[in-house]
Amino acid sequence: MKHVVVVGASLAGLRACETLRGEGFTGRVTLVGAEPEFPYDRPPLSKKLLKGDWEADRIRLRRADDFESLDLDLRLGFRATALDTETQHVSIVGPTDDREELGYDGVVVATGAACRRLPGQPVADGIFELRTLADALSLRAALVPRVNVVVIGAGFIGLEVAATARQRQCDVVVLEGADAPLMRGLGAEMGLAVVAIHGRNGVDVRCGVDVAGIEVDESTNHVTGVRLGDGSIVPADVVLVGIGVSPAVQWLHDSGLRVTDGIVCDQTLWAGQSGVYAAGDCARWTNPLFGDAGSGEEMRVEHWTNAAEQGAHAARNMLAVAAGREPSPYETVPFFWSDQYDRRIQFLGRAHGDDEVRVVAGSLDDKFVALYGHGGRLRGVLAMSMPKLLMPYRQLLTDRISWDDALTYASTPA
Ligand code: FAD
Ligand code: NAP
Repeated sequence: MKHVVVVGASLAGLRACETLRGEGFTGRVTLVGAEPEFPYDRPPLSKKLLKGDWEADRIRLRRADDFESLDLDLRLGFRATALDTETQHVSIVGPTDDREELGYDGVVVATGAACRRLPGQPVADGIFELRTLADALSLRAALVPRVNVVVIGAGFIGLEVAATARQRQCDVVVLEGADAPLMRGLGAEMGLAVVAIHGRNGVDVRCGVDVAGIEVDESTNHVTGVRLGDGSIVPADVVLVGIGVSPAVQWLHDSGLRVTDGIVCDQTLWAGQSGVYAAGDCARWTNPLFGDAGSGEEMRVEHWTNAAEQGAHAARNMLAVAAGREPSPYETVPFFWSDQYDRRIQFLGRAHGDDEVRVVAGSLDDKFVALYGHGGRLRGVLAMSMPKLLMPYRQLLTDRISWDDALTYASTPA
Protein backbone atom coordinates (compact mmCIF):
# COMPACT_ATOMS: atom_id res chain seq x y z
CA MET A 1 0.00 0.00 0.00
CA LYS A 2 1.29 3.41 -0.99
CA HIS A 3 -1.58 5.78 -0.35
CA VAL A 4 -4.38 5.72 2.24
CA VAL A 5 -7.16 8.31 2.12
CA VAL A 6 -9.08 8.97 5.33
CA VAL A 7 -12.35 10.83 4.74
CA GLY A 8 -13.69 12.76 7.76
CA ALA A 9 -11.25 14.76 9.91
CA SER A 10 -12.79 14.24 13.32
CA LEU A 11 -12.39 11.65 16.06
CA ALA A 12 -12.58 8.40 14.06
CA GLY A 13 -10.57 9.79 11.13
CA LEU A 14 -7.81 11.18 13.34
CA ARG A 15 -7.52 7.90 15.26
CA ALA A 16 -7.22 6.05 11.95
CA CYS A 17 -4.34 8.32 10.83
CA GLU A 18 -2.54 7.97 14.16
CA THR A 19 -2.88 4.20 14.07
CA LEU A 20 -1.54 3.95 10.52
CA ARG A 21 1.57 5.85 11.60
CA GLY A 22 1.79 4.08 14.96
CA GLU A 23 1.76 0.69 13.20
CA GLY A 24 4.64 1.78 10.96
CA PHE A 25 2.90 2.75 7.71
CA THR A 26 5.31 5.08 5.92
CA GLY A 27 3.31 5.69 2.72
CA ARG A 28 1.20 8.77 1.96
CA VAL A 29 -1.81 9.45 4.22
CA THR A 30 -4.33 12.06 3.07
CA LEU A 31 -6.88 13.30 5.60
CA VAL A 32 -9.89 14.98 3.97
CA GLY A 33 -12.25 17.02 6.18
CA ALA A 34 -15.23 19.15 5.17
CA GLU A 35 -14.86 21.50 8.14
CA PRO A 36 -12.15 24.16 7.92
CA GLU A 37 -11.15 23.43 11.54
CA PHE A 38 -8.39 21.21 12.87
CA PRO A 39 -10.09 18.17 14.47
CA TYR A 40 -11.87 19.03 17.72
CA ASP A 41 -13.85 17.18 20.36
CA ARG A 42 -17.65 17.35 20.18
CA PRO A 43 -18.78 16.41 23.74
CA PRO A 44 -17.89 19.86 25.21
CA LEU A 45 -20.04 21.55 22.53
CA SER A 46 -23.16 20.87 24.59
CA LYS A 47 -21.47 21.14 27.98
CA LYS A 48 -18.35 23.11 29.04
CA LEU A 49 -17.96 25.11 25.82
CA LEU A 50 -21.68 25.90 25.58
CA LYS A 51 -21.77 26.87 29.24
CA GLY A 52 -18.90 29.29 28.68
CA ASP A 53 -16.39 27.52 30.96
CA TRP A 54 -14.16 26.60 27.99
CA GLU A 55 -13.16 28.35 24.78
CA ALA A 56 -12.48 26.70 21.41
CA ASP A 57 -8.74 26.28 22.06
CA ARG A 58 -9.52 23.81 24.90
CA ILE A 59 -11.31 21.31 22.65
CA ARG A 60 -8.69 20.69 19.92
CA LEU A 61 -8.04 16.96 19.70
CA ARG A 62 -4.32 17.49 18.91
CA ARG A 63 -1.81 20.36 18.80
CA ALA A 64 -0.45 21.69 15.49
CA ASP A 65 2.96 20.05 16.05
CA ASP A 66 1.26 16.65 16.54
CA PHE A 67 -0.03 16.99 12.99
CA GLU A 68 3.46 17.73 11.73
CA SER A 69 4.82 14.54 13.27
CA LEU A 70 1.98 12.52 11.73
CA ASP A 71 3.15 13.73 8.29
CA LEU A 72 -0.35 13.94 6.79
CA ASP A 73 -1.46 15.42 3.52
CA LEU A 74 -4.15 17.54 5.22
CA ARG A 75 -7.12 18.70 3.15
CA LEU A 76 -9.23 20.71 5.57
CA GLY A 77 -12.25 22.48 4.06
CA PHE A 78 -12.41 19.78 1.35
CA ARG A 79 -15.55 17.68 0.91
CA ALA A 80 -15.47 14.19 -0.63
CA THR A 81 -18.15 14.01 -3.31
CA ALA A 82 -17.72 10.48 -4.68
CA LEU A 83 -15.94 7.18 -4.11
CA ASP A 84 -15.15 5.03 -7.14
CA THR A 85 -14.32 1.58 -5.82
CA GLU A 86 -13.51 0.20 -9.30
CA THR A 87 -10.83 2.70 -10.30
CA GLN A 88 -10.01 3.33 -6.59
CA HIS A 89 -10.42 7.11 -6.53
CA VAL A 90 -11.96 9.58 -4.09
CA SER A 91 -13.25 12.82 -5.66
CA ILE A 92 -12.88 15.90 -3.48
CA VAL A 93 -13.87 19.54 -3.85
CA GLY A 94 -12.23 22.42 -1.99
CA PRO A 95 -13.34 25.80 -0.66
CA THR A 96 -12.75 27.59 -3.98
CA ASP A 97 -14.45 24.81 -5.93
CA ASP A 98 -11.07 23.27 -6.74
CA ARG A 99 -11.56 19.61 -7.64
CA GLU A 100 -9.17 16.70 -7.32
CA GLU A 101 -9.18 12.92 -7.81
CA LEU A 102 -7.23 11.03 -5.16
CA GLY A 103 -6.12 7.54 -6.18
CA TYR A 104 -5.98 5.20 -3.20
CA ASP A 105 -4.90 1.75 -2.08
CA GLY A 106 -6.93 1.99 1.12
CA VAL A 107 -9.77 4.24 2.35
CA VAL A 108 -11.22 4.78 5.82
CA VAL A 109 -14.65 6.40 5.62
CA ALA A 110 -15.24 8.36 8.84
CA THR A 111 -17.74 11.01 7.78
CA GLY A 112 -19.87 10.80 10.94
CA ALA A 113 -23.42 12.10 10.94
CA ALA A 114 -25.43 15.25 10.30
CA CYS A 115 -28.43 16.72 12.14
CA ARG A 116 -31.94 15.81 11.03
CA ARG A 117 -34.39 18.65 10.42
CA LEU A 118 -38.16 18.94 10.85
CA PRO A 119 -40.20 18.80 7.65
CA GLY A 120 -40.42 22.38 6.33
CA GLN A 121 -38.12 23.67 9.09
CA PRO A 122 -37.72 27.43 8.53
CA VAL A 123 -34.35 29.19 8.37
CA ALA A 124 -34.61 32.13 10.78
CA ASP A 125 -32.79 33.88 13.59
CA GLY A 126 -33.09 32.03 16.87
CA ILE A 127 -33.39 28.52 15.33
CA PHE A 128 -30.36 26.30 15.97
CA GLU A 129 -28.98 22.81 15.58
CA LEU A 130 -25.86 21.52 17.33
CA ARG A 131 -23.18 19.43 15.66
CA THR A 132 -20.21 21.71 14.95
CA LEU A 133 -18.09 24.22 16.82
CA ALA A 134 -19.68 27.01 14.74
CA ASP A 135 -23.18 25.78 15.79
CA ALA A 136 -22.12 25.77 19.46
CA LEU A 137 -20.67 29.28 19.38
CA SER A 138 -23.79 30.76 17.76
CA LEU A 139 -26.12 28.93 20.15
CA ARG A 140 -24.03 30.07 23.14
CA ALA A 141 -24.35 33.70 22.11
CA ALA A 142 -28.15 33.32 22.16
CA LEU A 143 -28.35 31.65 25.60
CA VAL A 144 -28.54 34.79 27.73
CA PRO A 145 -30.35 34.97 31.09
CA ARG A 146 -34.15 34.79 31.07
CA VAL A 147 -34.65 34.03 27.34
CA ASN A 148 -37.28 31.39 26.58
CA VAL A 149 -35.52 28.36 25.14
CA VAL A 150 -37.56 25.57 23.57
CA VAL A 151 -35.71 22.35 22.83
CA ILE A 152 -37.31 19.98 20.33
CA GLY A 153 -36.24 16.39 21.03
CA ALA A 154 -35.32 14.94 24.42
CA GLY A 155 -32.36 12.89 23.26
CA PHE A 156 -28.76 13.47 24.28
CA ILE A 157 -28.39 16.85 22.59
CA GLY A 158 -31.75 18.10 23.82
CA LEU A 159 -31.22 17.16 27.46
CA GLU A 160 -27.59 18.29 27.66
CA VAL A 161 -28.45 21.64 26.07
CA ALA A 162 -31.47 21.99 28.39
CA ALA A 163 -29.20 21.48 31.42
CA THR A 164 -26.60 23.93 30.15
CA ALA A 165 -29.17 26.56 29.15
CA ARG A 166 -30.65 26.31 32.64
CA GLN A 167 -27.17 26.84 34.09
CA ARG A 168 -27.03 30.00 31.94
CA GLN A 169 -30.26 31.14 33.65
CA CYS A 170 -32.53 30.58 30.65
CA ASP A 171 -36.14 29.38 30.97
CA VAL A 172 -36.30 25.99 29.27
CA VAL A 173 -39.08 23.78 27.87
CA VAL A 174 -38.24 20.44 26.21
CA LEU A 175 -40.71 18.88 23.73
CA GLU A 176 -40.39 15.17 22.99
CA GLY A 177 -42.49 13.09 20.63
CA ALA A 178 -41.99 9.76 22.43
CA ASP A 179 -43.46 8.86 25.84
CA ALA A 180 -40.12 9.32 27.59
CA PRO A 181 -36.77 10.94 26.82
CA LEU A 182 -33.74 8.90 25.75
CA MET A 183 -36.02 5.98 24.84
CA ARG A 184 -33.53 4.36 22.50
CA GLY A 185 -30.53 4.93 24.78
CA LEU A 186 -32.05 4.04 28.16
CA GLY A 187 -35.62 2.75 27.71
CA ALA A 188 -38.78 4.38 29.12
CA GLU A 189 -38.41 3.71 32.85
CA MET A 190 -34.92 5.15 33.19
CA GLY A 191 -35.76 7.96 30.73
CA LEU A 192 -38.44 9.10 33.17
CA ALA A 193 -35.89 9.09 36.01
CA VAL A 194 -33.91 11.57 33.91
CA VAL A 195 -37.02 13.76 33.46
CA ALA A 196 -37.24 13.99 37.25
CA ILE A 197 -33.68 15.38 37.42
CA HIS A 198 -34.62 18.08 34.91
CA GLY A 199 -37.81 18.82 36.82
CA ARG A 200 -35.84 19.36 40.02
CA ASN A 201 -33.65 21.82 38.11
CA GLY A 202 -36.60 23.82 36.80
CA VAL A 203 -36.81 22.46 33.24
CA ASP A 204 -40.25 21.57 31.91
CA VAL A 205 -39.88 18.29 29.92
CA ARG A 206 -43.10 17.45 28.01
CA CYS A 207 -43.26 13.98 26.45
CA GLY A 208 -45.75 12.54 23.95
CA VAL A 209 -46.00 15.97 22.29
CA ASP A 210 -46.68 16.44 18.58
CA VAL A 211 -44.57 19.29 17.18
CA ALA A 212 -46.37 20.74 14.13
CA GLY A 213 -43.97 23.54 13.18
CA ILE A 214 -41.84 26.50 14.18
CA GLU A 215 -43.37 30.00 14.16
CA VAL A 216 -41.37 32.92 12.77
CA ASP A 217 -42.17 36.66 12.76
CA GLU A 218 -41.94 37.50 9.06
CA SER A 219 -41.05 41.15 9.63
CA THR A 220 -37.99 40.39 11.78
CA ASN A 221 -37.28 36.83 10.54
CA HIS A 222 -36.92 35.80 14.19
CA VAL A 223 -38.44 32.73 15.79
CA THR A 224 -41.44 33.36 18.08
CA GLY A 225 -42.52 29.90 19.16
CA VAL A 226 -43.20 26.24 18.46
CA ARG A 227 -46.64 25.18 17.23
CA LEU A 228 -48.02 21.91 18.60
CA GLY A 229 -50.41 19.48 16.93
CA ASP A 230 -53.36 20.81 19.00
CA GLY A 231 -52.73 24.34 17.64
CA SER A 232 -51.24 25.75 20.84
CA ILE A 233 -47.98 27.72 20.74
CA VAL A 234 -45.05 27.35 23.12
CA PRO A 235 -43.39 30.82 23.07
CA ALA A 236 -39.67 30.83 22.24
CA ASP A 237 -36.82 33.28 21.74
CA VAL A 238 -34.48 30.39 20.98
CA VAL A 239 -35.34 26.99 19.49
CA LEU A 240 -32.88 24.12 19.41
CA VAL A 241 -33.81 21.25 17.09
CA GLY A 242 -32.25 18.06 18.48
CA ILE A 243 -34.23 15.31 16.77
CA GLY A 244 -31.40 12.95 15.92
CA VAL A 245 -28.85 12.54 13.16
CA SER A 246 -28.45 10.67 9.88
CA PRO A 247 -25.16 9.10 8.84
CA ALA A 248 -23.27 11.39 6.41
CA VAL A 249 -23.13 8.90 3.55
CA GLN A 250 -25.00 10.59 0.67
CA TRP A 251 -21.71 11.14 -1.17
CA LEU A 252 -21.32 7.33 -1.45
CA HIS A 253 -24.49 6.77 -3.52
CA ASP A 254 -22.65 5.53 -6.64
CA SER A 255 -19.82 3.79 -4.82
CA GLY A 256 -21.12 0.23 -4.84
CA LEU A 257 -20.93 0.15 -1.03
CA ARG A 258 -23.96 -1.21 0.82
CA VAL A 259 -25.55 1.72 2.65
CA THR A 260 -28.54 1.10 4.93
CA ASP A 261 -28.66 3.60 7.79
CA GLY A 262 -24.86 3.67 7.68
CA ILE A 263 -22.17 1.88 5.70
CA VAL A 264 -22.74 -1.84 6.16
CA CYS A 265 -19.50 -3.55 7.21
CA ASP A 266 -18.58 -7.04 8.32
CA GLN A 267 -17.26 -7.82 11.79
CA THR A 268 -13.84 -6.42 10.88
CA LEU A 269 -15.21 -3.01 9.69
CA TRP A 270 -14.47 -3.94 6.06
CA ALA A 271 -17.10 -2.29 3.84
CA GLY A 272 -17.13 -5.01 1.17
CA GLN A 273 -14.92 -3.37 -1.52
CA SER A 274 -11.18 -3.73 -1.86
CA GLY A 275 -9.34 -1.64 0.74
CA VAL A 276 -12.46 0.19 2.01
CA TYR A 277 -13.22 0.37 5.74
CA ALA A 278 -15.65 2.48 7.77
CA ALA A 279 -15.52 3.78 11.35
CA GLY A 280 -17.47 5.89 13.82
CA ASP A 281 -21.01 7.29 13.61
CA CYS A 282 -21.34 6.41 9.89
CA ALA A 283 -20.44 2.70 10.28
CA ARG A 284 -22.88 -0.19 10.75
CA TRP A 285 -21.18 -3.43 11.61
CA THR A 286 -21.85 -6.79 13.20
CA ASN A 287 -20.74 -6.91 16.81
CA PRO A 288 -20.01 -10.55 17.76
CA LEU A 289 -20.46 -9.85 21.49
CA PHE A 290 -24.21 -9.21 21.16
CA GLY A 291 -27.09 -11.09 19.53
CA ASP A 292 -26.98 -14.86 19.16
CA ALA A 293 -23.63 -16.53 19.83
CA GLY A 294 -21.90 -17.05 16.49
CA SER A 295 -23.96 -14.57 14.44
CA GLY A 296 -23.65 -11.33 16.44
CA GLU A 297 -25.83 -8.21 16.21
CA GLU A 298 -25.71 -5.53 13.51
CA MET A 299 -25.49 -2.09 15.08
CA ARG A 300 -24.48 1.51 14.52
CA VAL A 301 -23.31 3.43 17.57
CA GLU A 302 -23.32 7.26 17.80
CA HIS A 303 -20.96 7.78 20.73
CA TRP A 304 -17.40 8.94 21.37
CA THR A 305 -15.69 5.74 22.57
CA ASN A 306 -16.95 3.74 19.62
CA ALA A 307 -15.67 6.33 17.09
CA ALA A 308 -12.24 6.49 18.72
CA GLU A 309 -11.85 2.69 18.92
CA GLN A 310 -13.26 1.96 15.48
CA GLY A 311 -10.98 4.49 13.75
CA ALA A 312 -7.97 2.69 15.19
CA HIS A 313 -9.39 -0.79 14.56
CA ALA A 314 -10.25 -0.09 10.91
CA ALA A 315 -6.73 1.19 10.21
CA ARG A 316 -5.14 -1.81 11.93
CA ASN A 317 -7.26 -4.26 9.94
CA MET A 318 -6.50 -2.46 6.66
CA LEU A 319 -2.77 -2.88 7.30
CA ALA A 320 -3.20 -6.50 8.38
CA VAL A 321 -5.05 -7.46 5.20
CA ALA A 322 -2.52 -5.60 3.03
CA ALA A 323 0.23 -7.59 4.73
CA GLY A 324 -1.60 -10.90 4.19
CA ARG A 325 -2.59 -11.30 7.86
CA GLU A 326 -6.05 -12.07 9.28
CA PRO A 327 -8.11 -9.01 10.28
CA SER A 328 -9.73 -9.15 13.71
CA PRO A 329 -13.41 -8.60 14.54
CA TYR A 330 -14.32 -5.37 16.30
CA GLU A 331 -16.09 -6.81 19.33
CA THR A 332 -17.00 -4.34 21.99
CA VAL A 333 -19.33 -3.47 24.80
CA PRO A 334 -20.70 -0.09 23.64
CA PHE A 335 -20.29 2.71 26.18
CA PHE A 336 -21.46 6.29 26.54
CA TRP A 337 -21.62 9.01 29.15
CA SER A 338 -23.75 12.13 29.40
CA ASP A 339 -23.23 15.00 31.86
CA GLN A 340 -26.38 16.84 32.92
CA TYR A 341 -26.22 19.29 35.87
CA ASP A 342 -24.14 17.56 38.57
CA ARG A 343 -25.07 14.08 37.26
CA ARG A 344 -22.94 11.76 35.18
CA ILE A 345 -25.01 9.18 33.33
CA GLN A 346 -22.96 6.21 32.08
CA PHE A 347 -24.19 3.23 30.12
CA LEU A 348 -22.49 -0.01 29.10
CA GLY A 349 -24.08 -2.38 26.57
CA ARG A 350 -27.37 -2.04 24.69
CA ALA A 351 -30.89 -1.13 25.82
CA HIS A 352 -34.07 -2.41 24.14
CA GLY A 353 -37.67 -1.36 24.76
CA ASP A 354 -38.65 -4.78 26.11
CA ASP A 355 -35.70 -5.27 28.49
CA GLU A 356 -36.31 -6.17 32.11
CA VAL A 357 -34.80 -3.33 34.16
CA ARG A 358 -33.79 -3.76 37.81
CA VAL A 359 -32.28 -1.11 40.12
CA VAL A 360 -29.56 -2.99 42.05
CA ALA A 361 -27.85 -0.18 43.98
CA GLY A 362 -28.82 3.26 45.27
CA SER A 363 -32.27 4.72 44.63
CA LEU A 364 -34.02 6.09 41.55
CA ASP A 365 -34.42 9.59 42.97
CA ASP A 366 -30.68 9.90 43.64
CA LYS A 367 -27.60 7.94 42.53
CA PHE A 368 -28.23 4.39 41.32
CA VAL A 369 -27.18 1.43 39.19
CA ALA A 370 -29.72 -0.42 37.01
CA LEU A 371 -29.27 -3.68 35.10
CA TYR A 372 -30.95 -4.42 31.75
CA GLY A 373 -31.75 -8.05 30.94
CA HIS A 374 -33.12 -9.74 27.85
CA GLY A 375 -33.47 -13.37 26.76
CA GLY A 376 -31.90 -14.61 29.99
CA ARG A 377 -28.78 -12.50 29.52
CA LEU A 378 -27.40 -9.28 30.95
CA ARG A 379 -27.43 -6.76 28.07
CA GLY A 380 -26.79 -3.38 29.65
CA VAL A 381 -25.91 -1.48 32.80
CA LEU A 382 -26.79 2.12 33.66
CA ALA A 383 -24.99 4.06 36.37
CA MET A 384 -26.30 7.40 37.58
CA SER A 385 -23.30 9.09 39.23
CA MET A 386 -21.94 5.72 40.49
CA PRO A 387 -18.92 5.19 38.19
CA LYS A 388 -17.00 2.78 40.42
CA LEU A 389 -19.88 0.30 40.54
CA LEU A 390 -20.28 0.38 36.74
CA MET A 391 -16.87 -0.65 35.49
CA PRO A 392 -16.72 -4.32 36.66
CA TYR A 393 -19.80 -4.97 34.52
CA ARG A 394 -17.81 -4.42 31.31
CA GLN A 395 -16.07 -7.78 31.82
CA LEU A 396 -19.35 -9.48 32.79
CA LEU A 397 -20.97 -8.22 29.59
CA THR A 398 -17.96 -9.38 27.57
CA ASP A 399 -18.34 -12.81 29.19
CA ARG A 400 -22.04 -12.87 28.11
CA ILE A 401 -23.09 -13.44 31.71
CA SER A 402 -26.64 -14.71 32.36
CA TRP A 403 -29.31 -12.45 33.90
CA ASP A 404 -29.49 -14.59 37.05
CA ASP A 405 -25.72 -14.53 37.55
CA ALA A 406 -25.70 -10.76 37.04
CA LEU A 407 -28.35 -10.32 39.74
CA THR A 408 -26.38 -12.60 42.06
CA TYR A 409 -23.21 -10.58 41.37
CA ALA A 410 -25.08 -7.33 42.09
CA SER A 411 -26.41 -8.59 45.41
CA THR A 412 -23.03 -9.92 46.61
CA PRO A 413 -21.30 -7.47 48.96
CA ALA A 414 -17.95 -6.21 47.60
P1 FAD B 1 -17.97 13.19 13.47
O1 FAD B 1 -17.42 13.67 14.77
O2 FAD B 1 -19.36 13.50 13.10
O3 FAD B 1 -16.99 13.67 12.32
C1 FAD B 1 -17.20 13.44 10.97
C2 FAD B 1 -16.41 14.48 10.21
O4 FAD B 1 -16.51 14.18 8.83
C3 FAD B 1 -16.97 15.89 10.38
O5 FAD B 1 -15.95 16.80 10.69
C4 FAD B 1 -17.61 16.19 9.04
O6 FAD B 1 -17.55 17.56 8.68
C5 FAD B 1 -16.74 15.36 8.11
N1 FAD B 1 -17.42 15.03 6.85
C6 FAD B 1 -18.72 14.67 6.67
N2 FAD B 1 -18.96 14.42 5.37
C7 FAD B 1 -17.78 14.64 4.71
C8 FAD B 1 -17.38 14.55 3.35
N3 FAD B 1 -18.24 14.18 2.39
N4 FAD B 1 -16.10 14.85 3.03
C9 FAD B 1 -15.21 15.22 4.00
N5 FAD B 1 -15.54 15.32 5.30
C10 FAD B 1 -16.80 15.03 5.65
N6 FAD B 1 -20.60 10.97 22.83
C11 FAD B 1 -20.41 10.47 24.07
O7 FAD B 1 -20.13 9.27 24.21
N7 FAD B 1 -20.50 11.28 25.17
C12 FAD B 1 -20.81 12.60 25.09
O8 FAD B 1 -20.91 13.29 26.11
C13 FAD B 1 -21.05 13.14 23.79
N8 FAD B 1 -21.39 14.44 23.66
C14 FAD B 1 -21.66 14.94 22.40
C15 FAD B 1 -22.04 16.27 22.28
C16 FAD B 1 -22.35 16.80 21.04
C17 FAD B 1 -22.79 18.22 20.92
C18 FAD B 1 -22.26 15.98 19.88
C19 FAD B 1 -22.59 16.55 18.52
C20 FAD B 1 -21.86 14.66 19.99
C21 FAD B 1 -21.56 14.12 21.26
N9 FAD B 1 -21.17 12.79 21.43
C22 FAD B 1 -20.94 12.28 22.67
C23 FAD B 1 -21.06 11.90 20.25
C24 FAD B 1 -19.62 11.89 19.69
O9 FAD B 1 -19.08 13.18 19.68
C25 FAD B 1 -19.67 11.30 18.28
O10 FAD B 1 -20.07 9.95 18.40
C26 FAD B 1 -18.32 11.39 17.58
O11 FAD B 1 -18.00 12.74 17.34
C27 FAD B 1 -18.35 10.64 16.26
O12 FAD B 1 -17.11 10.78 15.66
P2 FAD B 1 -16.91 10.52 14.10
O13 FAD B 1 -15.48 10.85 13.82
O14 FAD B 1 -17.45 9.21 13.72
O15 FAD B 1 -17.87 11.58 13.37
P1 NAP C 1 -31.03 11.33 19.64
O1 NAP C 1 -30.30 10.95 20.87
O2 NAP C 1 -31.31 10.32 18.59
O3 NAP C 1 -32.40 11.98 20.16
C1 NAP C 1 -33.33 12.61 19.34
C2 NAP C 1 -34.64 12.67 20.10
O4 NAP C 1 -35.57 13.49 19.40
C3 NAP C 1 -35.28 11.30 20.26
O5 NAP C 1 -35.79 11.18 21.56
C4 NAP C 1 -36.38 11.33 19.21
O6 NAP C 1 -37.43 10.46 19.49
C5 NAP C 1 -36.81 12.78 19.32
N1 NAP C 1 -37.54 13.24 18.15
C6 NAP C 1 -37.39 12.86 16.85
N2 NAP C 1 -38.23 13.56 16.06
C7 NAP C 1 -38.94 14.38 16.88
C8 NAP C 1 -39.96 15.35 16.65
N3 NAP C 1 -40.42 15.60 15.43
N4 NAP C 1 -40.46 16.02 17.72
C9 NAP C 1 -40.02 15.80 18.97
N5 NAP C 1 -39.05 14.87 19.25
C10 NAP C 1 -38.50 14.19 18.21
O7 NAP C 1 -30.29 12.51 18.87
P2 NAP C 1 -29.78 13.93 19.39
O8 NAP C 1 -30.13 14.14 20.82
O9 NAP C 1 -30.24 14.91 18.36
O10 NAP C 1 -28.22 13.79 19.30
C11 NAP C 1 -27.57 13.83 18.05
C12 NAP C 1 -26.34 12.97 18.05
O11 NAP C 1 -25.37 13.44 18.97
C13 NAP C 1 -26.60 11.53 18.43
O12 NAP C 1 -25.76 10.76 17.62
C14 NAP C 1 -26.15 11.44 19.85
O13 NAP C 1 -25.72 10.13 20.19
C15 NAP C 1 -24.98 12.41 19.85
N6 NAP C 1 -24.78 12.96 21.19
C16 NAP C 1 -24.38 12.12 22.16
C17 NAP C 1 -24.21 12.60 23.43
C18 NAP C 1 -23.77 11.66 24.49
O14 NAP C 1 -23.44 10.52 24.21
N7 NAP C 1 -23.71 12.12 25.75
C19 NAP C 1 -24.45 13.93 23.72
C20 NAP C 1 -24.89 14.77 22.70
C21 NAP C 1 -25.04 14.26 21.44
P3 NAP C 1 -37.44 9.04 18.70
O15 NAP C 1 -36.27 8.26 19.19
O16 NAP C 1 -38.76 8.48 19.08
O17 NAP C 1 -37.31 9.37 17.23
